[in-house]
Amino acid sequence: MSKISLSTPIRKLAGVGERYTKLLAKLGIKNVRDLLFYFPRRYDDFSVILPIARAVENQSITIKGQVWEIKNQRSPVKRKFLTLAKIVDESGVIEIIWYNQPFLTKNIQVNDKVILGGKVIKQRGKFILQNPHYEIIKNEENETTHLGRIVPVYSETEGLTSRWLRFKIKSLLFLTQKIKDYLPSEIIKSQGLMDLPQAIRQIHFPENQEYLKKAKKRLAFDELFLIQLSCLKQKLAWQRNKSAQIKLDLKLIKDYVSSLPFSLTKDQKKAAWEILKDLAKDVPMNRLLEGDVGSGKTVVATMAILATANAGYQVAYMAPTEILAQQHYHSISRLLKPFKAKIALLLGSASAKKKQTILKEIKEKKLDLVIGTHALIQENVWFPQLALVIIDEQHRFGVEQRVLLRKKTKKDFFPHLLTMSATPIPRTLALALYGDLDLSLIAEMPPGRQKVITRIIRPTERQKAYDFIREEIKKKHRVFVICPLIEESDVLGVKSVKEEYQKLSQEIFPDFKIGFLHGRMKSKEKEKIMKEFKEGQIDILVSTSVVEVGIDVPEATVMMIEGAERFGLAQLHQFRGRVGRGPYQSYCFLFTENPSRNTFARLYALLHCQNGFELAEKDLAIRGPGEIYGLRQHGLPDLKMASLTDLSLIKETRQVAEKLLERDPELKNYPLLIRAINQFKTTRHLE
Ligand code: ADP
Ligand code: MG
Repeated sequence: MSKISLSTPIRKLAGVGERYTKLLAKLGIKNVRDLLFYFPRRYDDFSVILPIARAVENQSITIKGQVWEIKNQRSPVKRKFLTLAKIVDESGVIEIIWYNQPFLTKNIQVNDKVILGGKVIKQRGKFILQNPHYEIIKNEENETTHLGRIVPVYSETEGLTSRWLRFKIKSLLFLTQKIKDYLPSEIIKSQGLMDLPQAIRQIHFPENQEYLKKAKKRLAFDELFLIQLSCLKQKLAWQRNKSAQIKLDLKLIKDYVSSLPFSLTKDQKKAAWEILKDLAKDVPMNRLLEGDVGSGKTVVATMAILATANAGYQVAYMAPTEILAQQHYHSISRLLKPFKAKIALLLGSASAKKKQTILKEIKEKKLDLVIGTHALIQENVWFPQLALVIIDEQHRFGVEQRVLLRKKTKKDFFPHLLTMSATPIPRTLALALYGDLDLSLIAEMPPGRQKVITRIIRPTERQKAYDFIREEIKKKHRVFVICPLIEESDVLGVKSVKEEYQKLSQEIFPDFKIGFLHGRMKSKEKEKIMKEFKEGQIDILVSTSVVEVGIDVPEATVMMIEGAERFGLAQLHQFRGRVGRGPYQSYCFLFTENPSRNTFARLYALLHCQNGFELAEKDLAIRGPGEIYGLRQHGLPDLKMASLTDLSLIKETRQVAEKLLERDPELKNYPLLIRAINQFKTTRHLE
C-alpha cells in the first residue's frame, strides 16, 4: 500500500469503493483529513464491564467472556431465525439471543473471546442478553473499537454505519500526529487546552469521560476563537481606513434635543453619545444600534444625520423596502424641519427623469441626506462628500457591499457606518455573531407606552374575535390581518392574501372597506394602499409579512395574525409592534389551528412578555440559537462543537483573541492560524 497522508483521497483507502466514496462525499468527506474531522454526534459509554453474575433485568450492560456455545434455530411460531449463545466469565454464565442474524454463527465461534453490550431481559426465570452489539477480542493487548470503552456514535447517512466509520477512523488515527496545531502554544498553555492531535484522537475514541470533556472543550474553543479572531481582524482592517471627522457641536445637539416633543430615554442618550463620539474620530464608525420596534432608534439616528449634514457632509440612509423608505423620509423630514436640511427620497420605482434630477443634485452636493432602498448604492450615484451611511433594519453589510460603498465617494475617506436592527439579540450572542461591530443597545421603551393586550384565540372563539373587531372599527380604529404563506409555491403570499381578503370582504365584514398587500404588487400600488390605510379609507388591511417592519399607523389597534404557529417569535413580536403606536388601547390576536407543544410555549412567551430582549432570551432557551429570530438567514455560523449559548466560552475566546491581536495585529508570526481562519470561513459560511 502506498503511503497514506492527511490529503490522501478517501477512495484510495483500502475497503473504500465507489459506493462509500459517494456516501462519504454526501457528508463532505473527501480526504483523510476530512474524515478525521468528522466528529461523533454522541457517545455510548460501554466502558464499565460488568461481571456476568451481576446482570440485572432491564439494564444495559457490557460483559466480557468466552463463547460456550452458539447455534441457529428457527423460532417455533413465526419461523424466524434465532441465534442462541451462552457466554461465560469467571462469575457465571448468561444466555444471548439475536434475531434474524443467522450469519452471526459464521462470525462468532465457540471459544472466541468477546465483548457484548446490550439490554438484559428476563424470560422464564432466566436472564437473557437481547440483540447485543458484539466485538471479538483477537488479542488482549489490542484496544477494542466498539465495546468495552466509550464508543463514538456518528450521524449516519443511509448505508454508512457508525460501525464502519469507527473501523475506518480508528485505522487512521495514527495520522493525527501529522496534524499541525495552529493554536499558539502559549494560548494552549494559558487556557489549559488539550493539543489538537490529541483532541482529535480523544474526540473519536476517548480514554475516559474527563478526556472527552477536554477534547470537546478544545474543539469548541477553536470554533469560537476563530470566529472572534476573524471578526476582530476585520474590525482592525476597517479601522485602518480614514473617515471624515465630524466635530461634536454641542449647541446643535442641544437645539435638536429641545426641539423634540419629549425627552430622550437614558438608553437613547447613551446610544446617541456613543455615536456622536464615534463620528468625531478619524476612523470610520462601524456600529450596530439595536433596539425594539418603537424604542426610538430613528430619533437617535437623526441626531447623527444632523451632525453630519451640519458639518458639510452627506448622508445616505437605506431602508429594506420602499414603504419604509418613504415613511422614514416623512418622519426624518419632520424631525429635521427646524434645521433646514435638504433631503430627497430616491426610489427604484421613480421616473427616470426624477431619478436623474436627484442623482444630479447628489453629485452637485445640493442634498444633505438621501433616503432610499438598497438600490441606492447600486444606482449610478456619486456622493462627493458622503460621510455617513445608515442601514435600517438588520440588513447586514457584507464585505462586498462595503467595497461597493467605497466606490461611491472620494477615495481618501470612508463613510461612517451605522446599522440599525429591531432584532433584539442578547449582547453576548451579538458578540459572537457581529463581533466586528461596536454595539449600542436601547433596551428600555419610552415612558407611557401602553401594553398591547395579547390573546391566543381558539378556533371556537373566532366569531367573538370578529365581533370585537367590528366594535373597534366602529370607533374609527383600524385592523391588520396577517396571513402566513399557506403553500411553498406561494412565495409572495398572493394566494393566501387573496383567499383571506375574499373571505373577509364577502362573508365576515361586507360592510367595511378592506384592502390587501402582497409581495407581487408594484411598490406604487403598495404605497397607495398603505396611504389609504393610514388615512382611514381602508379599515382592514390584509397582508403578508410585508408590513413586518416599521410601518406607523397610530389608529391601528388590532393586529390579527392567522396561523401564528408559522411565524417565529421575532416576527410575531414585530407584527405586534405595528399596533399600540397611538393613544388607544391595542390588541394582538394570535389565531392558531393546530398548535404543537412548542408552539404554545412560544405563543405564551409572547402573552407574558412585551420586551424584545427578554423574548430573545426565551426564544434562545426554547428553540436554540439556530432558530432564534431567523438568525440562520443572517449568516449564523454553522458550528460543529461550540454552542452560541456558551457565554463564558464566548467571552474567554474574545479576550484571548483581543490579547493576541494586540501583540500581533497582522498575525505575522502565526501563518497556520491565518490559514485556519480562512479555512473555517469557507467551510462554515462566515461571510
Ligand atoms: P424605532 O425606529 O426604534 O422603531 P422611532 O424612533 O421610530 O423608533 O420611535 C417610535 C415612536 O416613538 C416615534 O413616534 C417617536 O417620535 C417616539 N419616541 C421616540 N423616542 C421617544 C421618547 N424618548 N419619548 C417619547 N416618545 C418617543
Ligand atoms: Mg424604525
